[in-house]
Amino acid sequence: MASAPSSSARTYDRRMPGGIDLHAHTSVSDGTETPAELVAAAVDAGLDAVAITDHDATTGWREAFDAARGTGLMVVPGLELSTQLDFASVHLLGYLVDPGHPGLVAEMERIRAERLDRARSMVERISVDYPDLSWERVQQHTTPGATVGRPHIADALVELGHVPDRSAAFQSILHWQGGYYRPHEAPPPIEGVRLIVAAGGVPVIAHPGAAGAPRVLTDDVVRRLVDAGLGGLEIAHRDNRPDQVPRLRALAERYDLIRTGSSDYHGAGKPNRLAENVTEPDQLARIADRATGAVPFRG
Ligand code: AMP
Ligand code: FE
Ligand code: FE
Ligand code: ZN
Repeated sequence: MASAPSSSARTYDRRMPGGIDLHAHTSVSDGTETPAELVAAAVDAGLDAVAITDHDATTGWREAFDAARGTGLMVVPGLELSTQLDFASVHLLGYLVDPGHPGLVAEMERIRAERLDRARSMVERISVDYPDLSWERVQQHTTPGATVGRPHIADALVELGHVPDRSAAFQSILHWQGGYYRPHEAPPPIEGVRLIVAAGGVPVIAHPGAAGAPRVLTDDVVRRLVDAGLGGLEIAHRDNRPDQVPRLRALAERYDLIRTGSSDYHGAGKPNRLAENVTEPDQLARIADRATGAVPFRG
């Protein structure tokens, strides 16, 4: 019964050309580069394929496709849907969804609006102690229509000299125990899985071994998510706690789940580098075979 760990998601080996990185953000959410800049960075990194997975948004796809034309890079369109269970945040990557699916569009809009309210309220709280922080200043660090999050508040705090970089902001003022934190509402993961499946996409739990996720992603919850249509687990990701990885591999084995590995690149906003973790081609093929909402764009 015991099978050797056979993670298809391997750590990037510089001697191997190409690679598939299925998790990256742009200025459509909290990445610091535009979709076209992400594509250029993916080409520079020597990737064969990159997924654009902005938080609760698909509006960067078109620009990424246009930028990829003629480069040979494959762009896998997706999103990272915010969900929540028992106060823990669970992120669902949704690959190859129909970006016009009414239910998905409505839910993304709802979450973005809720995130906006929450960001404003956090800024209000922070500005009591840091009066030079204003909502206008935070907005200057977002692009119109972007999914607003703590990273944008961090950028304003960096500009004002209160913290040296985003990571320092997350470890202090923006930390969930930092005194100013407010959660935002999001649907439970089972609804997120159903929604992504309804939109023709393939749901994969992002960084399932990170932070508070393991507390809520019990074996029973994972089984229910699989029953609802969960397609895979993001196993190779820098935020997955090493002590969680054997369990994630075992779950993937038990339910024959797709195994991915990815960077979660945010441009200059996070230390994560493109291609630091990658996904095996057969696992991407499984995603493409299963999806009906969209197809990868071959540049
Ligand atoms: P929020 O969704 O607004 O609560 O903010 C969390 C988001 O901020 C995550 O999706 C990460 O992409 C990003 N984030 C978390 N930690 C850091 C960090 N140390 N530096 C930069 N960005 C971070
Ligand atoms: Fe992010
Ligand atoms: Fe995430
Ligand atoms: Zn992400």
